[in-house]
Amino acid sequence: MSTLSLTSAMNNLAALVTSSGEAGDIVVRSPFDDGIVGTLPASSEADVARAFAQAAVAQTDWAARPVKERAAVVARFRDLLLRERDALVDCVQAETGKARASAFEEVADASLWSSYNARHASGLLREKRRQGTFPLLTKTHERHVPKGVVGVITPWNYPLTLPASDVVPALVTGNAVVLKPDSQTPHTALMVLDLLLRAGLPRDVLQIVVGPGPEVGGAVVANADYVMFTGSTATGKIVAAQCAERLIGCSAELGGKNAMLVLEDADVAKAAVGAVRGCFANSGQLCVSIERIYVHDAVWDEFVSAFGERVRQMRLEPGFEWDADMGSLISERQLDAVAAHVDDAVAKGASVLTGGNRRPDLGPYFYEPTVLLGVTDSMELARKETFGPVVSLYRVSSDDEGVKLANDSEYGLSASVWSKRNGPNVARKLEAGTVNVNEAYAATWSSHGAPMGGMKSSGLGRRHGAQGLLKYTEPQTIAVQRLLPIAGPADLKKETWAKALSAGSRLLNLYR
Ligand code: NDP
Repeated sequence: MSTLSLTSAMNNLAALVTSSGEAGDIVVRSPFDDGIVGTLPASSEADVARAFAQAAVAQTDWAARPVKERAAVVARFRDLLLRERDALVDCVQAETGKARASAFEEVADASLWSSYNARHASGLLREKRRQGTFPLLTKTHERHVPKGVVGVITPWNYPLTLPASDVVPALVTGNAVVLKPDSQTPHTALMVLDLLLRAGLPRDVLQIVVGPGPEVGGAVVANADYVMFTGSTATGKIVAAQCAERLIGCSAELGGKNAMLVLEDADVAKAAVGAVRGCFANSGQLCVSIERIYVHDAVWDEFVSAFGERVRQMRLEPGFEWDADMGSLISERQLDAVAAHVDDAVAKGASVLTGGNRRPDLGPYFYEPTVLLGVTDSMELARKETFGPVVSLYRVSSDDEGVKLANDSEYGLSASVWSKRNGPNVARKLEAGTVNVNEAYAATWSSHGAPMGGMKSSGLGRRHGAQGLLKYTEPQTIAVQRLLPIAGPADLKKETWAKALSAGSRLLNLYR
């Protein structure tokens, strides 16, 4: 399928953008061949304010519906994702240039996460009895109320997974959402809205605004009751500062410089296969992508040889077929950033085990999967996130040295440990929000019942699991006092009440 045949279907999505048409157009181009994917009306800051106002009106009715009704919409959305799989994968590929298998992962992930939301929202949101001040006298309940209208800002690298990951839990917990997708990949986000409407979501509950980050994204932050941001650490800091100024909460998934450890007792053949996926899935443009591999002395030669061979065999191809192992990078800017990191490392003495070249013969932004040796701290990519298909291999003389070097980073998003016996022990020593044992990144990401997110400069808060839903709510405590006030009977002497309270507290401490 060519990029052109997608164009007419995508133009129908333009009507779903909240835009007065006064802010001009956004032209989206395909990284495969620079052809036009579609044109959308951009949103102005006034359009963003209107989107929030409309969403706020719709949110009242939406929040008043029983959770089961909202969960049913999400369940139908989950089913539609699978039914419209091919159209979604085409759209993701057309906008990002990624390989078809990487695009399909987005559909599968969005569907599984929606399933978790549909199944668990009722239980998580149920009003729960909590320990009160005095047994029998204080009856205390905890409930969760929606934040209101949530602002969601997403990047280009996972244009289906990330909007779905954040919009679905915000909706199922009773919020309305204003979503600003990246300007390079807005059609995929509009397809998410289209499917949600077909699943029964009331029209104004989810609004999509399109346009440049500082203006349109800034207006989202200025109007939201809570913000979920995914993108670079630099932009994340700007968004977090704006949220702090407004005293609203935010959650952020930011950059990483994720490490893999191949321990002394690793199954090297499996580790080499895992490393190929961990480093080059989605052309390395993945927040949980592996960019550093620490290999124990004892298995260094075997690993370097097996990994290098597998990388050399990778199929780098444009197009909508299933065969490619890796596709394009997203843009010229991203290509230049990746090439600059490799060129700087090579100029300062690193050697290239394989890769290291632009591939204009395949498409404007193709770059080979690249493995570097001899990387030192003086090189730009030693500590900075490349966000591309480039990994550095380091030889270590003990597993503890690997842990120490892996932790020596400002980031702490994801890590991977390969070992037959020692994986979980070493995992506990790593400063990363998620650690995969004998998997690169997918085991933790797809464990939707457990929290996913970063330590240190890699983020704030978590998506997935109970926290991934409840962060979109305000906990409210309701305590009903019966028979006696907490301060004691009005006609009782203060000292007598203090004695009674002390005795009661001693008794309670024995049982609580
Ligand atoms: P950005 O952080 O610049 O962009 C992410 C999203 O934020 C986009 O929707 C963007 O809009 C929007 N945005 C940009 N500036 C602002 C702002 N001031 N206020 C509110 N929203 C804003 O990331 P890039 O896309 O430029 O990628 C740069 C780097 O970020 C990558 O090389 C990588 O290191 C990292 N990154 C990390 C990701 C992750 O999953 N953790 C995902 C993507 C990138 P628009 O683009 O339309 O202007």
